[in-house]
Order: sequence, then C-alpha cells, then structure tokens
Amino acid sequence: METKNINLYIGSLVVALALIVFSTSLMAQKLESKNSQGKYEIDILFVYTAKSKQDSHNLSKANSNGHRRVQSDGEVLEQQARQSFENSQISDVELRVVGEHVTDFVVPAGISKNALTDLVKSKDDGAMDEIHDIRDSLKADLVVFIGPNGPTPSCGDVNFPPDLGTPDLGFEEVSTNNAVHAFAVAHVICAFSPGGYSMLHEIGHLLHVRHHRASDGTRGQPFNFNHGFLFDRDASQKTRFRTLAAGGGKGLPPRILYWSNPEVRYQNVPTGIPEANNDAANAANTIRLTAQTIASYRVKP
Ligand SMILES: [Zn+2]
Repeated sequence: METKNINLYIGSLVVALALIVFSTSLMAQKLESKNSQGKYEIDILFVYTAKSKQDSHNLSKANSNGHRRVQSDGEVLEQQARQSFENSQISDVELRVVGEHVTDFVVPAGISKNALTDLVKSKDDGAMDEIHDIRDSLKADLVVFIGPNGPTPSCGDVNFPPDLGTPDLGFEEVSTNNAVHAFAVAHVICAFSPGGYSMLHEIGHLLHVRHHRASDGTRGQPFNFNHGFLFDRDASQKTRFRTLAAGGGKGLPPRILYWSNPEVRYQNVPTGIPEANNDAANAANTIRLTAQTIASYRVKP
C-alpha cells in the first residue's frame, strides 16, 4: 500500500515536471534583442549554384565601372538595404549577409519558380538539403537562393508569403513559427543588375510586405497597410515610380530604393498611403513591426 502511494506520488511528480518543461518550451520563443548599433539584425545566407556564382561574378565586374575593388554580393545587398531603410525612415533594422554557400545542385532548365522554391525549402528531397544545417550553424534567419542566368524562369519568388495566387501559409500571422518558410529565390540578373533590387523585393515579402494593391488586393494580412506602392498618375508622366515591394510587369514605372511610406516623399510625391485609408500602403511600418520576429528565426547565443 505504502509503495503504491509512493509510486503514485513519484508518477504525478514526473507528469508535473514534464508539463512544466513542455509549457516553458512553448513560452520560450526567445526574441532577438537589438544589436550594439540599436538595430534588429536580420541575418541572411546566400546559396549559389556554380553557374550563378560565376554569373554574379561577371555581373559585379561589369557593374564596377573600372573600380579597383569589386563589391561582394553581400556588400551589395547590405548597402542597398541600408540605403532603402534610410530613405524610408526605418531606423532600427539592418540586413547582414552571414555566409555564402555554393551547392552542386544544377537547376533544371524550364523548372517553374514555385517548384524551384520548394526544392530550396525542402529538407529531404535530395536537392540542396545541406543548406539547412549551414543555415542553422550560421544562425541565418533567411535563406536567399541566387538562381543562375538562364533556367530560372522569372525574377524571383518566395516560399512565404507566396506571391498572388497561391495559398497563404500562415502569412497572416507574425510568428517565429514561420521560420520554416523563410526561403527566397532571386534571379542573378534581377538581383545584381543596376535598379533590379529583386533580392530586396523578395526579402520584403519575407518581412510580410505585399505587392501594390493592383497586383495584390489582399487586406489585413497581417496588417491592413502592408502593401507596396505604385505611382503612375502624374499627367506629365515626369514622375512615375514603384516602391520596392510593388509587383513586376511590363511597362511599369521604374523601381526606386524606397519602401512605401506615406510620410516620405519622392520627387515631391508621397511614397505611400496613410493607414486609415482603404488602400493603405505603408511597408516601412510593416517592416518596423515584423523585424524583431524575423530576426529571431534563428537566435544568436
Ligand atoms: Zn513579389
């Protein structure tokens, strides 16, 4: 009788302990703090194929205008991001490229962008599976696959949130649970040609920013204002532009290195629409609100 009671006692103690461990692990979604410069640092791993690495090297040389020192791809992205955040009054976020990996995977000709993004994301399909361990060891929050010139069918794509027309995969919720979706594909030409900004565009999606309304009218996921902005109404047509997250397409105005923000002007035109409006566009505020969670997809020790 006594032994039975002790067993029961020990048994319930074990259950209680297990519950405590389980619930604290649920609560312990540790969030990254700002770094010594007062910024949420979003860390990125670049993945290349042998061909895209060569293509990017050739592009960098061609774009260096004879400068002695050619910038690395990481420096190009970091500098574009810094300028875009400064232009758009986003003061506490920075992108940092923490590693490069060249995979021996060869992109099949004619593969769709969705299929390619799935290959990058999936852990066990025999294509680039090593990138997941590399991401973990470098604590990279996001992974950007730089596709080679040629077989990659369009400028870019993300696994999460998808561009218009595919299911939303939890895009409506800002949560570290979405770390499993944090993979983007950017075509090397669109990423590194002057004015392309495709990497920033795709990374914007990973930060929960959507296209301009005409390209994606979704409302309220996760904010009613998380859209890019396109301005093409000036009668003289001297001023026309689209911000970084605005969608692509033939004949659209040039992309500028700004995130939509109604409080910031470009050539004296506001670059967004205030949040009270039905067609609100404020990607800058979206990024301010999501950056800490995205920076916490992989938390540095
Ligand atoms: Zn897009």
